[in-house]
Amino acid sequence: MKYTQVLFFSLFIVFAAIAGPVGRHGHLKVAGVHLVDRHGSPVVLKGVSFGWHNWWPRFYNANAVEWLAADWQCTVVRAAMGVEPARGYIAEPERSEKLICDLVDAAIKNDIYVIIDWHSHNVRLDEAKAFFKKMATVYGQYPNVIYEIFNEPERQSWAEVKAYSEEVVKTIRAVDPDNIILVGSSHWDQDVDIAAASPLDGDANLMYTLHFYAATHRQELRDKASTALKKGLPLLVSECAGMEASGDGPIDRDQWELWVEWMQQHNISWVAWSISDKNETCSMIRPAGSSQGQWSDDQLNEWGITVREYLKAKP
Ligand code: MG
Repeated sequence: MKYTQVLFFSLFIVFAAIAGPVGRHGHLKVAGVHLVDRHGSPVVLKGVSFGWHNWWPRFYNANAVEWLAADWQCTVVRAAMGVEPARGYIAEPERSEKLICDLVDAAIKNDIYVIIDWHSHNVRLDEAKAFFKKMATVYGQYPNVIYEIFNEPERQSWAEVKAYSEEVVKTIRAVDPDNIILVGSSHWDQDVDIAAASPLDGDANLMYTLHFYAATHRQELRDKASTALKKGLPLLVSECAGMEASGDGPIDRDQWELWVEWMQQHNISWVAWSISDKNETCSMIRPAGSSQGQWSDDQLNEWGITVREYLKAKP
């Protein structure tokens, strides 16, 4: 090699060594049922979801994101924008957008991926279109950004969720042709088998969300999800936890481990719920924990300690 080639190659090695997940993997796309990176290699993202921004705005800051990237080794975080509750997007759109953008900007700065989550249980088509049009305009060029257009449909049929999703996907695609979009399914993102029988047409970079709470959702849901995968539906677990679906009660460690093994077996990315400080099992931070990260073990609850261990064990 010529001197200049050696220099270039050395710089490349150094860059690759210090780059974060986005530096290494770049723009994501979907191939078959898998999330793949710019080289076409399967990528598994792991991280945590922030709690509803309207209830836990104190954690929506750059220092918390930096800590989760550096110390917890999150390769993805999820910004959960509450839509309907007091202080949510409907009541306070500008404040809500600002808090979400604070997290997205911090994720970009820390070279990790970030899910912009429309954290609603109901169809709010016009508001969702306006919000995602804006997000796609600001962030569509960044490989970091993933759009989640409907957290958890509660009472809607798959036909209704599908019709909603087609409209929002069209709105995003008019601005951003390629970033990954996550689509929900009926019954809190559990009817992935039904979605697999009738998926959205015409867009390569869609994935479907599967949510589980391990003490409630067990083998039956893993079987539904395996059916969906066999039918070719790409899945991403954008919200999961080890306790009951209420977010409270004891962690079922056996079922959590079975889920982790299942996700590992299928190269499925997962995001654990949540960075919040309510007195409940799923809230990872204790009320005395700082808003700015730097959490010691005694500022985390059992679930927070568990998730951090899993993230650090297999980055
Ligand atoms: Mg794009």
